[in-house]
Amino acid sequence: MKKVAIECRNIHLAYGQTQVLKDVSLHIAPGEFFALLGPSGSGKSSLLRLIAGFNRQQQGQLLIDGQDMSPKAPWERNVGMVFQSYALWPHMSVWDNVAFGLVERKVEPAILKAKVLAVLEQVGLSEFAQRRPNQLSGGQQQRVALARTIVVEPQVLLLDEPLSNLDKSLRTQMRQELLSMQRRLGLTTVFVTHDQEEAMATADRMAVLDKGVVQQVGTAQALYDSPANRFVANFVGTMNVLTVQALRYSTGELHLRMAGLPEVTLPWPETPVQTEGAGLCFRPHAVDMVLAQQSENPQRFWLPGEILSSEFMGNATRYQVKVGLDVLTVDQAHHAGGVKWAPHTFVKLGLHPEQVQVVT
Ligand code: ADP
Ligand code: MG
Repeated sequence: MKKVAIECRNIHLAYGQTQVLKDVSLHIAPGEFFALLGPSGSGKSSLLRLIAGFNRQQQGQLLIDGQDMSPKAPWERNVGMVFQSYALWPHMSVWDNVAFGLVERKVEPAILKAKVLAVLEQVGLSEFAQRRPNQLSGGQQQRVALARTIVVEPQVLLLDEPLSNLDKSLRTQMRQELLSMQRRLGLTTVFVTHDQEEAMATADRMAVLDKGVVQQVGTAQALYDSPANRFVANFVGTMNVLTVQALRYSTGELHLRMAGLPEVTLPWPETPVQTEGAGLCFRPHAVDMVLAQQSENPQRFWLPGEILSSEFMGNATRYQVKVGLDVLTVDQAHHAGGVKWAPHTFVKLGLHPEQVQVVT
């Protein structure tokens, strides 16, 4: 089957007076597994419904396989969508649910039968063909929804939080199944989720949405390592942000002042960063924590702090540490016999300049 690209060009969508998507531009490559990640209400489902043809943008263009979709109704688009609620017909058997789209398309009975059999086999539901949806587990219902969508051989697969109704361990298993099926079929897939771990574990690339605006597009690693702004930094993984009060750039160096802390100088080969609302950010595990009286490794810069609390997580101990005006999260790898430091212990946090970023 031909793999198709999806392109959104400067799309604006409003429901009445409420602007929901603002100038959304995305290019999704043929055969890509692409995630739309964002908090509830950020416009993910609205964008997915727009690609499917259930929403119409007021401005901008949507192209699938290079073709402008605006004159096309949903059923003319060759797009399959799995809804968050699955939307299975409760009074119909699994077989009839899956066959429905083929019946509507007036597919010949022999071909219909072969296709339904093949797709039930593919999702591992062959034995359940005569059951009703309410006689199936959540994971099985989700497979029926998927089978029903792929049986008509769409070129684009749209998944709206397809795993959110499943419990945690099933969710992890199903996301791998989804991914391997997507790879097998080579379907360009847009996967909506509010769960950053799910997006990172599956997607080739993702777009982070906030309030209808695309904040950043890239691979999981690119977004995790180089978040474009504070929103992405906090939404993709756990990030510490130290409030910077003043920041001065001189050739190759950045000087930062933060309330109650010694001035920090970082090598800074890039162009000067924006001063307004700047923050110094780094991941919880990128920090070396030592007792206040211990000597400092000169490869790092050091910030004084006080431990407020800790949680043992098995592989690491997670500390909350007061540093200047902020409370930071610091993970220290745990090895058998390692000790946990008590609240009110004075410590120093060591950071490598390469592990920190300035965000606005
Ligand atoms: P998400 O899927 O990211 O949770 P949605 O796309 O469902 O977000 O919703 C984005 C915004 O649009 C929300 O503020 C929501 O309340 C609003 N919205 C969604 N659908 C409609 C609708 N049919 N009419 C009016 N407002 C809507
Ligand atoms: Mg939604």
